[in-house]
Amino acid sequence: MEESLLARQGRIGQNMPMALTDLLLLGREVDLTSERGVSCTGELPAASDPDLVARGWAARKALGSRALILGHHYQRDEVIAFADITGDSFKLAQSAAASPAAEFIFFAGVHFMAESADILTSLSQKVILPDLAAGCSMADMATQSQVDDCWKVLEDLGLSSATIPVTYMNSSAAIKSFTGAHGGLICTSSNAKRAMEWAFSQGEKILFLPDQHLGRNTAVLSLGLTLEDCVLWNPWKPMGGLSENEIRAAKVILWRGHCSVHGRFSVEAVKEIRKQIPDVKILVHPECQNEVVALADVVGSTESIIRTIEAAPAGSAWAIGTELNLVSRLAKKHPDKRIVFLDKTVCYCSTMNRIDLPHLVWAMESVLNGHVVNQISVDEKVAAYSRIALERMLSLPI
Ligand code: SF4
Repeated sequence: MEESLLARQGRIGQNMPMALTDLLLLGREVDLTSERGVSCTGELPAASDPDLVARGWAARKALGSRALILGHHYQRDEVIAFADITGDSFKLAQSAAASPAAEFIFFAGVHFMAESADILTSLSQKVILPDLAAGCSMADMATQSQVDDCWKVLEDLGLSSATIPVTYMNSSAAIKSFTGAHGGLICTSSNAKRAMEWAFSQGEKILFLPDQHLGRNTAVLSLGLTLEDCVLWNPWKPMGGLSENEIRAAKVILWRGHCSVHGRFSVEAVKEIRKQIPDVKILVHPECQNEVVALADVVGSTESIIRTIEAAPAGSAWAIGTELNLVSRLAKKHPDKRIVFLDKTVCYCSTMNRIDLPHLVWAMESVLNGHVVNQISVDEKVAAYSRIALERMLSLPI
């Protein structure tokens, strides 16, 4: 008889292989190895509590300099209001590393970012993710066992010694650790070109994890490689769905991962918006599909999108292809410019939005009551190799 979904979920986490644990549904069960997140077990204040904002500020004041609140640009306004520092994943990781006096770092972002903060801070500092269900679907698209399988194929073909892993910040600590252990480095959307150039100075081939679009856009638009120089490794198929000749000929092996938010922007949306606003400039993140990026006027990381809009002349019109919370905030902050979202449908990052005011208030009040909740703690061996990969990135020439 076929096993029911509930029965299977009951077995998950006991003796199941990694591939099945990866199928946990958002908000169910407990699997701290998955970026998809887990349920939040706390007694949260009600979102409708009229005193919630006041409770948040009271807790923040009571924590004082013992706490640091880091807020990613894609967070909700209600959470960003509490952030001591706002930034993209790279800036927030740097900020965590530069704050040795903060005993508690509340990370208003997603799981891989909190992991990076834990890797870059001291053992006595505690990194807290207010909702453990705040994962990242892209990071979840490359699991350790899948990446190990891929590397085994490269070893068997005698290609691993000439292949350098380049891993996007948006990845689990396990994949960052793999990268450090195999001579590779981490990159962000703002330094991917320099990271890939460094990798080509060390080897002949790059394994780019886990975002195919950032890898392809950087290889083709920044390094001058062709689309044919890149192949796509499908972790769900034997040999990644590639022939031996394709793997041998490739200069860049792109992992088949993508951002579920940025991957949605389409060529049709670009054409439509150009018809509606003839003088509009299209500004997109490099996690967007190559066809969309090729049609854009400006391509840049989250921080660079913010800088571009700040520097734009009054009266200019922009259609922005990135997360909607940030686009809405930019539109509010710059009423002298016309800023629209590059898609007809609403496109929030659902996991970023898991961090809301009830979770943040609960996490802060818990610490004040002597309970550190939702602490993100990366195993020291994993952290050590991850740190090597992160430090290789930090030592890249600017
Ligand atoms: S916006 Fe995309 S890459 Fe960023 S956390 Fe959400 S799913 Fe992950």
